[in-house]
Amino acid sequence: MVIILKENPEKKQFDNLVAWLKSMDLTIHMSQGIDTTILGLVGDTSEVDADLINALDIVKTVKRISDPFKNANRKFHPLDTVISCPILRGEDNSETADDKGNHLSSRQPSGIEAKIGGGYFSIIAGPCSVESEEQVISIARSVKASGAGFLRGGAFKPRTSPYSFQGMRATGIKYLLEAKQKTGLPIVSEIMDISQIELFEDVDVIQVGARNMQNFELLKELGHTNKPILLKRGLSSTLEELLMSAEYIMAGGNERIILCERGIRTFETATRNTLDLSAIPWLKEKSHLPIIVDPSHATGIRELVLPMSMAATAAGADGLMVEVHNDPEHALCDGPQSLTPEQFDTLAKAIAHVRPVSFRPESPVS
Ligand code: PEP
Ligand code: MN
Repeated sequence: MVIILKENPEKKQFDNLVAWLKSMDLTIHMSQGIDTTILGLVGDTSEVDADLINALDIVKTVKRISDPFKNANRKFHPLDTVISCPILRGEDNSETADDKGNHLSSRQPSGIEAKIGGGYFSIIAGPCSVESEEQVISIARSVKASGAGFLRGGAFKPRTSPYSFQGMRATGIKYLLEAKQKTGLPIVSEIMDISQIELFEDVDVIQVGARNMQNFELLKELGHTNKPILLKRGLSSTLEELLMSAEYIMAGGNERIILCERGIRTFETATRNTLDLSAIPWLKEKSHLPIIVDPSHATGIRELVLPMSMAATAAGADGLMVEVHNDPEHALCDGPQSLTPEQFDTLAKAIAHVRPVSFRPESPVS
């Protein structure tokens, strides 16, 4: 249920209304616009008398929300959510401050933020898996030079076969942090289990992969962290299920979520998955959360990554996640879909041309 208040509601009546709603065990999600205040009620509203609330002086309208997702719903929160992470100066851009070779200013913000959502767009780029310190630092430097806002890299890899490379685990996270230290780029990496959470303390954005989209215990735990969560759509999940998974994280108090369309299983086998482009405007209409697209896992084919990135950007995506490898032929994971740094540079330039004409709904609020 959503209660839309009149402009400048009288304070005493407002406090009384809030106290009464809370006494019914409802959680109130308040969204303050320029001239409207919206109270979103989460919990069992079946006993709440909408007519009674409607009759109050300070209330403009009351609407029942039939969608099962509440916190993620745009009706509760009309303004777009923006996720932002500072880009640090990094050792590459700071003077050596003492004779021991320390770069004291490398951890200071560069003044630039990588932002996703609300009209901001960022590209997350990097290898499927962290393979060595040199590899991840060299890719970080090249994708940064091409304009990426975040560095990605898998340390814990969900592989179909237990005999395939499983990732460098804690060492992989350490190498990503080294790459952040050098370049200042915020890092994104995938968590597979609650037990790994401490290792992600310095990771800027925690990724929940497609296979874990409905690992509800993991989602609940991530709801208690204060980090942005990149939530990928499950291989066979509906968009409503994706939003319900976001709801699990939000119900715990963490509202910083980036949704990611990464292709779904269909009867088509020519591509690794089928990229569902219509997910972008659909999710934008239903939810205030930003939505990015991963064309690498969606297609599995390097040559398709550029055109699908352009299409996703044109359809209104708030960002992209692209796999980039310095030597795709010898990559330990997902080489066939990985771009070389040069190909990524071409992609970043093409996206800059598409951005000005990409779809932005006039008024996403119905
Ligand atoms: C990944 O991004 O490395 C990954 C494994 O993706 P997905 O969960 O979408 O398959
Ligand atoms: Mn991959």
